[in-house]
Amino acid sequence: MKFIQRLFIAVALAGICSNISLADGNPRFEGNDSSVVAMLDFITCEYWDNDDLTPYENDYIPDTVHIKLTDELRCFVMPVETKINSQFGWRWNRPHKGLDLHLETGDPVKAAFDGVVRYAQYNNGGYGNLVVIRHYNGLETYYAHLSKINVAPNSIIKAGEILGEGGCSGSRCTGPHLHFETRYKDRAFNPQEIIAFEQGCLNSETIMLTKDNFVIAKNNSSSSTFNSKSGKSKANLKYSYKIKNGDTLLAIALKNKTSVKTLCKLNRLKPDSTLPIGRVLRLR
Ligand SMILES: [Zn+2]
Repeated sequence: MKFIQRLFIAVALAGICSNISLADGNPRFEGNDSSVVAMLDFITCEYWDNDDLTPYENDYIPDTVHIKLTDELRCFVMPVETKINSQFGWRWNRPHKGLDLHLETGDPVKAAFDGVVRYAQYNNGGYGNLVVIRHYNGLETYYAHLSKINVAPNSIIKAGEILGEGGCSGSRCTGPHLHFETRYKDRAFNPQEIIAFEQGCLNSETIMLTKDNFVIAKNNSSSSTFNSKSGKSKANLKYSYKIKNGDTLLAIALKNKTSVKTLCKLNRLKPDSTLPIGRVLRLR
């Protein structure tokens, strides 16, 4: 780690959090200090632990959390551009708290957003070689089963930076893949809530999470596309849809087994809104 990065982290860990407040899950900066140090301060001043995977210990979360995912300074990059092998949800009599993304051993795995590496070590709980990054928006992303870890705890990382190589380390791995998780205060939610994997982009610049997003119900088709008894995929429910020429909300809703009301709510649309071709809509 470069000296300047160490310095930033040291300042951050000093716990000088007074110039930052949290409202609806988003950092707000008082005065003009929106420097890198202040951002690092925001994400590392509380519940920062390089060895404890879930340091928040059931910390309170509001009923609704609004999170800004990207802005003019910070972008999103796909961790690996590939297909989903296994969905988030109930699987094999236990919750599967992430998505399994297809890859070959040795394929590069990239950070999804800017942030700081909170955890980078072998995990005995089944993850194998695991990197956890805490991002400036408060979310954490998990990258598991890596064959090689390229980053050290407490190092600053940019979106798109290669954090390691894919593989099959850990007791729960049955073949090379990336187990990818998105979490808010230790609570996992479906990465497809924010990422349109088929299109390789975010669903939108912001996300609204409610407590329902963190529930992984047994055999609940809304949070799992897997049947716990057979392990086979149910109807392949899509989570996003790219608007095409001639589409209407009703047609999109019917085609994707959802409703106009749901589409309007999820995408902040009105039933008579003009649909811009190419925009990616959240479906559920
Ligand atoms: Zn997995």
